[in-house]
Amino acid sequence: MTEQPVEHRRLIIAGTGIAGLSAAIYAGRSNNEPLVFEGDEPGGQLTLTTDVANYPGFPEGIGGPELVNNMKEQAQKFGAELDHGIVVDVRPTGEAPGDRAGPFEVELKNGDLYTCDAFIAASGASARTLGVPGEDELMGYGLSTCATCDGAFFRDEDMLVVGGGDAAMEEANFLTKFADTVYIAHRRENFRAEDYWIDRVMEKVDEGDIEIMRNTELLEIHGSPEEGVDHVTLARNEEGYPTDKLDDPDTETFDFDVGAVFYAIGHTPNTDYLEDTGVEMDESGYLKTVGGDGGGQTRTGVEGIFGAGDVVDYHYQQAITAGGMGSKAAIDADEYLEDLPAETAAGAEATAAETDD
Ligand SMILES: Cc1cc2nc3c(=O)[nH]c(=O)nc-3n(C[C@H](O)[C@H](O)[C@H](O)COP(=O)(O)OP(=O)(O)OC[C@H]3O[C@@H](n4cnc5c(N)ncnc54)[C@H](O)[C@@H]3O)c2cc1C
Repeated sequence: MTEQPVEHRRLIIAGTGIAGLSAAIYAGRSNNEPLVFEGDEPGGQLTLTTDVANYPGFPEGIGGPELVNNMKEQAQKFGAELDHGIVVDVRPTGEAPGDRAGPFEVELKNGDLYTCDAFIAASGASARTLGVPGEDELMGYGLSTCATCDGAFFRDEDMLVVGGGDAAMEEANFLTKFADTVYIAHRRENFRAEDYWIDRVMEKVDEGDIEIMRNTELLEIHGSPEEGVDHVTLARNEEGYPTDKLDDPDTETFDFDVGAVFYAIGHTPNTDYLEDTGVEMDESGYLKTVGGDGGGQTRTGVEGIFGAGDVVDYHYQQAITAGGMGSKAAIDADEYLEDLPAETAAGAEATAAETDD
């Protein structure tokens, strides 16, 4: 790690998904000249999808990478600087007056150190995957981690939902609008989901729209990016967790025809790097913000740190909601920076300038 900061900025944003880029556009327009670190997934989750059909303003739909690139261009036009850094640690210095925790030291994976007066965490959440063969090739081409986003593309197909929690039940229920039949593959006998969601699914089972495959796990997805998903290979063992028991003679493996596969095995919020800040997180690691009515909704409990998008919002997890929250975070950060005594920011800038010599 370098001893001295490379540079001091008014505002640093972690993430160039829809939340981070929306924040960057607004912060640029407020003359806060944000420095935006891209992390290891430049453009965020939306770059994994070829077709975004529900983002307002694009009646014919738009490719995820194209939407993200447009937003990057827009952010840069307003003075945002995008950089390929991965933030590994954020540390409050507590040198600012009052309750303010900043300025913050922001350490990157390559060892570079920056300081900033305000920080927006827009680092998203990564959908969990299984690592089975076919997964990398077919992600976005019949395999998806977002039923709300991609379900309508597979109208009248048989669909497989993998998972056994609330998300799997909710997504399976949702997909019955489009699917011929929705199959749920769950590795155990019993679901983890709440009774409410299990009851909704059982109603659809009674109506013949959903079939449950208990004690069943996905082994492989077959197909091609051109033709999409053709079929899957599944394993079943009545004792559960069949992939741990592939040598067991009671484990059956079989091919099964489906036109789409949806993973609903949870998301992991990217918040490890915030642990030293003292921001509050829930038990899964999602960042807690103030929320509610009026200004300051994206404030965390640490003055000067704001959160936006999927890193906070485990419920909606949509591009439009992430974008909306990103714009709110930039407005909240701007109000915070406006209130910051001028000498704090100027002092920090002077320190960074001395370091440059
Ligand atoms: C396959 C798929 C299809 C989807 N389709 C749609 C759709 O059609 N419509 C829709 O509305 N939504 C869709 N979504 C959901 C949508 O993509 C997300 O809700 C949205 O991208 C969330 O934006 P975000 O900016 O909060 O986070 P993300 O998109 O997750 O972006 C997070 C950013 O943070 C960066 N980052 C992470 N850790 C760090 C770090 N330590 N330092 C610096 N940067 C970091 C990442 O590199 C990334 O740039 C889809 C999601 C998936 C997975």
